[in-house]
Amino acid sequence: MKLYRFPGRSSGSGGTRKLFVGGLHGDEGLYTAPILETLASEVEAEAEVGDNYGDLIIVPSLTMGGRYIGVLSEEYYRSREGMILTGLIKRYKPSFYFELHAYGESSYHRLTNPEREKREGVPPFVDLDDHEHTHNHILLGSIAPVLRELFSAGDFCLTIELPKWRSDEEGVREEVMQILRIGLLSETKREMLTQLRKMYPDALKRAEALFIQYYHSRLEPF
Ligand SMILES: [Zn+2]
Repeated sequence: MKLYRFPGRSSGSGGTRKLFVGGLHGDEGLYTAPILETLASEVEAEAEVGDNYGDLIIVPSLTMGGRYIGVLSEEYYRSREGMILTGLIKRYKPSFYFELHAYGESSYHRLTNPEREKREGVPPFVDLDDHEHTHNHILLGSIAPVLRELFSAGDFCLTIELPKWRSDEEGVREEVMQILRIGLLSETKREMLTQLRKMYPDALKRAEALFIQYYHSRLEPF
């Protein structure tokens, strides 16, 4: 497993620790790794990394072709990949956490189904497409509730689902990169949310409402 570490400086946002992880199961790493590798090289190329981006850990793919176990199941966290993931979170204690997945076209309906909470126990993902964006079918949502427990209330945790069948397209990759760059530049959860709301006003409204409906007042999005 490849891991990039870019330690931040203690001044400014240098203290904000951020973990970006992709390829949690099955072959998703084939799709997430190129994007997270690009992110790592952008950070590497940026001279003042520590001042701008915080303390970064980037894992392009936890596994390359492991068994597929859904991250909503407790079983996942007993698998090799799952234990590496929880180990990373416990070790680094990030306050920003980005989880990149990739889904097939046939899963679109299941993942975005308004009935998903009834069927799978978690809110549906929100498609980021709106009038301002092309139909890239990038999905956004909260992380698995069992994993969210490892974080504090004030942490920011987000899942991004890439469409496998379109992940080679420059427009799709660039849109994901834009979201991740907001992650790099944000110092606080509030800042991150403000930027996301600017980019996706409708989608964020829906995603936040779904989150609040699920967690009630126990947790603020995300
Ligand atoms: Zn996945």
